Amino acid sequence: MYIDLSFYDELGQRFGAPGDFAMAYVVAHEVGHHVQNLLGISDRLHNMRGRVSESEYNKQSVMLELQADFLAGVWAHHAQK
Ligand SMILES: [Zn+2]
Repeated sequence: MYIDLSFYDELGQRFGAPGDFAMAYVVAHEVGHHVQNLLGISDRLHNMRGRVSESEYNKQSVMLELQADFLAGVWAHHAQK
């Protein structure tokens, strides 16, 4: 996993989300993408490219991102415990 560390500066300065939790959430989101890869979800989306309209592909891309956020939320829930 690779993370652009300047994004952490942006998180704190531009988005008002400094701190360890915000940093860990970014990592958890990226791990969520790894889970999507393992489950073949990312491949399904990539195979849609050119087969569906661009707007449908974009919609599905957003859903993929939201699912990665969901998976990060699952991590946060369990980390909180
Ligand atoms: Zn993402």
